[in-house]
Amino acid sequence: MCDKTAPGVQPETVAAAHGVASDAAFGAVAPPLYLSSTYEFAGYDEPRAYDYGRVGNPTRDLLAEAIAKLEEGAGAVLTPSGMAAIDLIVGRLPAGSLVLAPFDCYGGTMRLLKARAELRQIRLELVDQSNLELFETHLAARAALVLVESPSNPLMRVVDIAALSARARAVDARVVVDNTFLSPALQKPLSLGADYVLHSTTKFLNGHSDVIAGAVIAADADEHRALKHWANVTGAIAAPFDSWLTLRGLRTLFVRMERQEKNAMAIAELLAAHPAVVRVHYPGLAGHPDHALAARQQKGFGAMMSFELAGGVSAVQRFVRSVRTFTLAESLGGVESLVAHPATMTHLDMGAEARARAGIGDGLLRLSVGLEHIDDLRAGLQAGLSDC
Ligand SMILES: *Cc1c(COP(=O)(O)O)cnc(C)c1O
Repeated sequence: MCDKTAPGVQPETVAAAHGVASDAAFGAVAPPLYLSSTYEFAGYDEPRAYDYGRVGNPTRDLLAEAIAKLEEGAGAVLTPSGMAAIDLIVGRLPAGSLVLAPFDCYGGTMRLLKARAELRQIRLELVDQSNLELFETHLAARAALVLVESPSNPLMRVVDIAALSARARAVDARVVVDNTFLSPALQKPLSLGADYVLHSTTKFLNGHSDVIAGAVIAADADEHRALKHWANVTGAIAAPFDSWLTLRGLRTLFVRMERQEKNAMAIAELLAAHPAVVRVHYPGLAGHPDHALAARQQKGFGAMMSFELAGGVSAVQRFVRSVRTFTLAESLGGVESLVAHPATMTHLDMGAEARARAGIGDGLLRLSVGLEHIDDLRAGLQAGLSDC
């Protein structure tokens, strides 16, 4: 395959057209889906560009190129889930390496890191990364890897990626940013100094809630090669069909993000003005503690938010019974709007103590705002809130 988008084109063009009309066999405009697990050798000791599907696959490689370009990295490795993307990086660390992760990170990430720490494969410190001085004292303990989630899930705390990366670099620690909540349409951590970006492509990059997959993008070409090699060694590779669906979803990333953010802003304003709501966590609101940092660091505020109901758990129960348009489900980043209750869903495994430390209360609800008409989103939310 030969990509026809010229070097240096705008990211919107990469998303819409990377690999379009690059099919040498028939001139297919939409890039074909190659499902074959194996490839014929041209002759004795003569492999072609591809030999075996774990090592490489044209459909997966096309998506990896597009995502690497969007994140401005040297290359991307596509994994079978977002968790596998994190584990691809963590699994390559020498035994006993110190990993710093946010105390309010995604529940699945915390579960993975704690499991690796219990097996003594890594040492783990859960820290408040918004406190840079405190963070530096942890860094000084010879951290090998710093995991950043910004904005964080579900409280939408924003970390100063450039400041944190500079401090990490000074002690030779690598920085990986989970960019799942914003996508490269709204934030480019590598340009802020991070070493790797990772994604649950399950979310905004695919955008249609029909794939579980992940990606790691490396700033450095040698690191990308090493990660690609490690994905082949461990077999942590994304399926061709999932890659094809994700490339199809990626085509509309920029317009989806733009409209979903617009809807999210209107929803955040509605929530902020509602008497049943005590707090709204959305960096796009001027009153959010990280609003200025988010405005500087991000190209937009995204479509994720959380809010606290004054009535606690019983209000949550009434809300989820009456809400319309928003579906009660885990996950995020799709074209449809979802509502989740972190304490009993996404962050259940974290345990009550860790949730309390991170500030995830039982009255907290998380929204992923989709592409429905804003009038229907407002009406659906009002239906839930009127019962609280
Ligand atoms: C969903 C999610 C993950 C895990 O990704 P999967 O594709 O579900 O394995 C990691 N980080 C964040 C921020 C997520 O939202």
